[in-house]
Amino acid sequence: MLVNAKEMLDKALAGHYAVPQFNINNLEWTKSILLACEEAKSPVILGVSEGAGKYMTGFKTVAAMVKAMDESLGITVPVALHLDHGTYEGSKACIEAGFTSIMFDGSHYDIAENVEKTKELVKIAHDKGISIEAEVGGIGGVEDGVASDGEKADPAECKMIAELGVDFLAAGIGNIHGVYPADWKGLDFDVLAAIKDQIGELPLVLHGGSGIPEDQIKKAISLGVSKINVNTELQLVFAAATRTYVEAGKDKEGKGYDPRKLLKPGTDAIIAECKNKIAIFGSGNKA
Ligand SMILES: [Zn+2]
Repeated sequence: MLVNAKEMLDKALAGHYAVPQFNINNLEWTKSILLACEEAKSPVILGVSEGAGKYMTGFKTVAAMVKAMDESLGITVPVALHLDHGTYEGSKACIEAGFTSIMFDGSHYDIAENVEKTKELVKIAHDKGISIEAEVGGIGGVEDGVASDGEKADPAECKMIAELGVDFLAAGIGNIHGVYPADWKGLDFDVLAAIKDQIGELPLVLHGGSGIPEDQIKKAISLGVSKINVNTELQLVFAAATRTYVEAGKDKEGKGYDPRKLLKPGTDAIIAECKNKIAIFGSGNKA
């Protein structure tokens, strides 16, 4: 059964581990992630960007697929279906479509407008039992074609958004989406500690979890990060495994071109990478 993400993140904060958000792109991604999390007994948040939602022909398709697959695979771990970096309109559409959690990303508005829109969506989401994440300070990199420099969040602004009743908060601390550049300066733990000081017992979300060194991940969890988003790394391992299969000519052997065979190395790689992340985040056997 799909659940909202509040309880799993409150438990993660209390238990000093982080729940993975793995973003999905299609049926294979969803199946691989669910199987990996079931095997590792980890709660999981399936992230869907607006672009991925469009690619899968709409939020209703995504909700129907995820609900049906959760049942047909006999998944017993808590699974939340979560909109990633939602617009105001996208957030409302996902609430209607049957998502169990949303992120409204109002970080590109001025703080007054971010507060106003977040407040309205908190009410709409909570009336339906749906959890909501908000964002302060842009995450660097490119998400669905929108570039951001990775502005660090203002702790006072985090407090304003936290007080609106959001269930968890994304705050920029030098993290970026996509592949980290060689000269990346690392996470800013002083800013993270200052934010934590202002928001109390509200779980924090670390976006751009792909490629952050393990010691920084663990320190971030110790300072109150309870959800870590991973998208790029699953794409990279899928692409690399598929490349190896094709370059070895395996698609030309027998019926190696059958999509169930062609995509198997990539999906196996996704499963392995999910388990690797669960081990680092400490969320295994927490479901
Ligand atoms: Zn993000």
